[in-house]
Amino acid sequence: MRRTGITVTLIAGLQFSQPAQAALEVFACEPEWAALAQELGGEWVNAESATQGLQDPHFIEARPSLIARVRKADLVICTGAQLEIGWLPMLLGKANNPVVLPGKDGFLEASNYVPKLDVPDRVDRAQGDVHAQGNPHIQINPHNIALVARVLGERLATLDPEHAADYQAGLHDFLGRWDAAIKRWETSAAPLRGKRLVAHHKAFVYLEDWLELNELATLEPLPGIPPSSAHLAQLLDMLGEGGSGADIIIRESYQGAKASEWLSQRTGIPAVMLPMTVGGSPQAKDLFSLFDDILQRLLSARP
Ligand SMILES: [Zn+2]
Repeated sequence: MRRTGITVTLIAGLQFSQPAQAALEVFACEPEWAALAQELGGEWVNAESATQGLQDPHFIEARPSLIARVRKADLVICTGAQLEIGWLPMLLGKANNPVVLPGKDGFLEASNYVPKLDVPDRVDRAQGDVHAQGNPHIQINPHNIALVARVLGERLATLDPEHAADYQAGLHDFLGRWDAAIKRWETSAAPLRGKRLVAHHKAFVYLEDWLELNELATLEPLPGIPPSSAHLAQLLDMLGEGGSGADIIIRESYQGAKASEWLSQRTGIPAVMLPMTVGGSPQAKDLFSLFDDILQRLLSARP
């Protein structure tokens, strides 16, 4: 009899343990914004990212499953600055969801809220430059994450006023932990100051600006144009065989290692992969461990 009683309790428990329906469906273009929305919104937000940490967010396919997710979204949050120009306009068009169109409260372009770097005087996209509105890779400076967090926290409250106090509390809690982490990161990164980098893609300018790193060159001849043997030979000339022309070669988690390893083998300069977002490395499980891991990798590679 006792046993039966336990079984009944368990079944009843299961029936009542269904999670409450999340208030807001958030469609993020990149994992860092999904992670941020989840940090701020907690149980009231269901945030998913269109791209994963090992995918190049410049280039993905507008799959039907993504269209379906945009169709039911309350908020679309993307980096902007044309990072997603190859796929987001098509997703928004096909999803036909009026609340998440540009200009509406349901659409948030994160790069509009940070000081942008590399804004060109003139741009020739025909030459392949994929950074026509300034550099879009804003997420690898944690101060930018804090700026976007403030805007996103307010936006969640606007879209779901019933839980506004919870979003404000979530923002306050996040910023407290984030500011403490920034202090910790800035202390541990001190030995990196002034280090000379060669980067695969021009994706690290905000990190370099934050940590006072010095980028000498990129493996890509132009942003978005793959490294050519002629360009790599020029870099080898510049850095010198077995020479000390730079300190670290870095590449994004979604770029192949071939070009950076070619140059590393010939120059003896260490080559490292850096996660660009949550999921970009096994260690980068959330926004905090993302920056822990970036610094760890740079500090281990430092000569
Ligand atoms: Zn780029």
